[in-house]
Amino acid sequence: MFFFLHSHGGSPLRGRCRPFSGDIVVDTSLAIVGAGPYGLAVAAQARRLGMDPIVLGEPMGFWREHMPQGMLLRSGPDWHLDAAGVHTFEAYLAQRGIDPVDVDPIPVDLFVDYATWFQEVAGLQVRREFVTALRRTDDAFDVELEGGDRLSAAAVVAAPGISHFTNTPHRAVAGLRPDRVTHTCFLTEVDRARDARTLIIGGRQSAFEWAALLADAGVEAVHVVYRHDTPEFTAADWRFVDPMIHQTLAVPGWFRRLPAERRDAIARQFWSVGRLTLEPWLTPRMPDGIVHRHPRTEVMSCVEQPNGEIRVELSTGEVLLVDHVVLATGYRADIDAVPYLRELSGLESVDGFPVLDEGMQTSVPGLFLTGFAATRDFGPFFGFVRGCPAAAEIIGSELARVLPSPPVLV
Ligand SMILES: Cc1cc2nc3c(=O)[nH]c(=O)nc-3n(C[C@H](O)[C@H](O)[C@H](O)COP(=O)(O)OP(=O)(O)OC[C@H]3O[C@@H](n4cnc5c(N)ncnc54)[C@H](O)[C@@H]3O)c2cc1C
Repeated sequence: MFFFLHSHGGSPLRGRCRPFSGDIVVDTSLAIVGAGPYGLAVAAQARRLGMDPIVLGEPMGFWREHMPQGMLLRSGPDWHLDAAGVHTFEAYLAQRGIDPVDVDPIPVDLFVDYATWFQEVAGLQVRREFVTALRRTDDAFDVELEGGDRLSAAAVVAAPGISHFTNTPHRAVAGLRPDRVTHTCFLTEVDRARDARTLIIGGRQSAFEWAALLADAGVEAVHVVYRHDTPEFTAADWRFVDPMIHQTLAVPGWFRRLPAERRDAIARQFWSVGRLTLEPWLTPRMPDGIVHRHPRTEVMSCVEQPNGEIRVELSTGEVLLVDHVVLATGYRADIDAVPYLRELSGLESVDGFPVLDEGMQTSVPGLFLTGFAATRDFGPFFGFVRGCPAAAEIIGSELARVLPSPPVLV
């Protein structure tokens, strides 16, 4: 077995805890649920605007726990977290004396280190605890933490990322025991795959990224099975996104007001750069004798044999014998799958996405949602780090409008 579900660690509390007993241990104007790129970016902007947010969650938890070690980013050094454009990834590299050309492509660990630096220079308070439930009271949110404490917050920004939205649609694996099949989101310790034979279902970036990582780890064989043609292996160029981010900031509601055909065209453009082209550095890491590509092919069935092997039947009639199945089948929004949002009444959604206003506020007044959950209303760029500064700016301005002004110290 070479895959693990990670747990999150606890740590000493760092909020403004009230020392007396009582249910609510912290009163705050702003709680930010999620300490990934979006949560940190919004928190930094809120602080810049004079607020004192409390961030909840494991800093860069998704990147540490759900991205495999050794993974290389597809995004470049110009993508960062700072709405003010000061504490950028490039500024971090300069401060560390690292030449950007020496870290191209960017290793995931380096970006995580940047986010840690960002958290420090922005002076963010992160309370490394998970939220179990969010409830609306008359004039605030009651935020319940896994340790039993509760916070009261006037406004909440939730940045749940994508880990709740794994898409596992494949009927062919329905009969397999759960420990024989893993979504890429939960397959991070690939070096433990040595000597195993793996079937990867899916043929986009994550499928080939994981095939390369498994081959690096010394796996015996990887079969990548996908219904379409083999994608083109060429460097992605994301510059087309910049004017769209500019428009998003210049014209409130820009994306949602575009004609449906234009929105579809943007989504397709994103799809074709993000999914239909694959980074060329993957090619040499996928030797033909190890990584077997099966384009225009479907997996018909996967059945565990008495000796433990999994017998895979393909639509071509070919039969494979493997030890594990990996689903590289991506993510699909389903806001009801975010556990801490389940007790909130009045949270409207369409196609699994929350309905957001132009300030990224949900139908529950005072609750904002950002990141991938905002892509339906704000555009596909909000599923990536590129959207962080814009999200921080949009939500920050809205918070500054709706929250009481911070006290002026004299
Ligand atoms: C394989 C892979 C490669 C990628 N490569 C890139 C890339 O190269 N460039 C790029 O821009 N993007 C990339 N992405 C997308 C990237 O993951 C997102 O852009 C980014 O993580 C979104 O940030 P986020 O803050 O919305 O969510 P996340 O990073 O997922 O952060 C979620 C946060 O929520 C916290 N949390 C979860 N549950 C709770 C709870 N109950 N209470 C409190 N906190 C909670 C977590 O601890 C974490 O801090 C990649 C994604 C994958 C899967």
